[in-house]
Amino acid sequence: MTSYHIWTVGCQMNKADSERMGAGLEQLGLKWSQDPKNADVIVLNSCVVRQQAEDRVVGMLTSLKPWKQRFPEKTLALMGCMVGPKKDDLLKRYPYVDLFMQPQQFEPLIELVGDKVGVDPDGCVGPLVPGSPSVTTHVPIIHGCDKFCTFCIIPYRRGREISRPTNELVEECKMLVARGVKEVTLLGQNVDSYGHDFETPSDLGDLLEAIHDRVPELFRIRFLTSHPNDMSDKIINTVANLPRVMENINLPFQAGNDEVLTNMKRGYTNLQYRELIERVKKAIPNVALVTDLIVGFPGETEAQFEDSVQLIRDLRFDKVHVAMYSTRPNTFAQRKLVDDVPKEEKHRRLKVIEATQESILSEINASYLGSVEEILVDGHNKGRWQGRTRTDKLVFVDGENIELGDILNVRITKTSPWSFTGSQVRS
Ligand code: SF4
Repeated sequence: MTSYHIWTVGCQMNKADSERMGAGLEQLGLKWSQDPKNADVIVLNSCVVRQQAEDRVVGMLTSLKPWKQRFPEKTLALMGCMVGPKKDDLLKRYPYVDLFMQPQQFEPLIELVGDKVGVDPDGCVGPLVPGSPSVTTHVPIIHGCDKFCTFCIIPYRRGREISRPTNELVEECKMLVARGVKEVTLLGQNVDSYGHDFETPSDLGDLLEAIHDRVPELFRIRFLTSHPNDMSDKIINTVANLPRVMENINLPFQAGNDEVLTNMKRGYTNLQYRELIERVKKAIPNVALVTDLIVGFPGETEAQFEDSVQLIRDLRFDKVHVAMYSTRPNTFAQRKLVDDVPKEEKHRRLKVIEATQESILSEINASYLGSVEEILVDGHNKGRWQGRTRTDKLVFVDGENIELGDILNVRITKTSPWSFTGSQVRS
């Protein structure tokens, strides 16, 4: 047993979990295999947040059945949100899968592989921190979610909120910096809840300060995803005051109509959301705002949908993640509400949001033309270097002697709704 492959679908949290799973397998001596079918261990890290994601996982599981039958000695594991506390149904549907692991449940595979390669993971496997992380990486800081929005399956799969200790996170950031990381994104399903479960409650603002002050070599700190009800003034002021915390906030509003928000059990109104955004913009004038929105929630009328469109027009986000409502098993919405907006209508509403947002983004991005932006170089694509501004805009850069991880000043020479082009400005 010498190689592994991890296939990941879903959110940044899943990607971070896969990196950690990989770190554990590498500590047992396994190497990454680009081709899954050549690997001795295949891990599918699954997502069920929408039907489409679940269908992809089912497709992968089905396509790997002949592989597993041909090589029974190899290991196939399913982890992530498709695996709930009860596994009977999965065991019946996929008897050829060796292991089913809930999100962040890395130990069963570490134990099994340790056994196969003859290494006792106790003492041999240290903290699950990626050995060769990219210059920008993700650090999960809080697991689970206590909010129980009526459409969301996450709390049923990832459990209640558990924050990781502050010191452990600071040490992990130091370790990542020593391995070449320049930017971390602190992750949580509801990242703003960080520390609320501690014996002496803490706040995400405290963690941002701790990492900012105790890991001075870390160039940039971001965080996502926030819940409007937990976005404290302390968090807002911390972003405003700490120079290495990026002015980029992801605050999902999910619906612009109060009745729909109540049916979603989001816990705020359109007006309260608008007031929060006003507070954020006042404290951080150059902030880039990102949001999430669902169209076609059960019972959403055309007029209620228009409230979402109006909110997008008024608040002018830098990015809108829009999704069509998709019924998820065991959620309140699945049990008590009727999925009555036709698929074609959901699709139409999605297109309206996308078109509205595209025209807003063209205007926002055009305002960057000629400005000089600080970017962190995080990749090389089709012969050009690329990086991100503090506000998370993608920039393709022309210039010489550029290296991965460089912080550059770049004059923006061309903009589109999706990316910029720029030239390096040397001082
Ligand atoms: S805040 Fe709501 S949408 Fe977000 S993970 Fe929790 S339950 Fe799901």
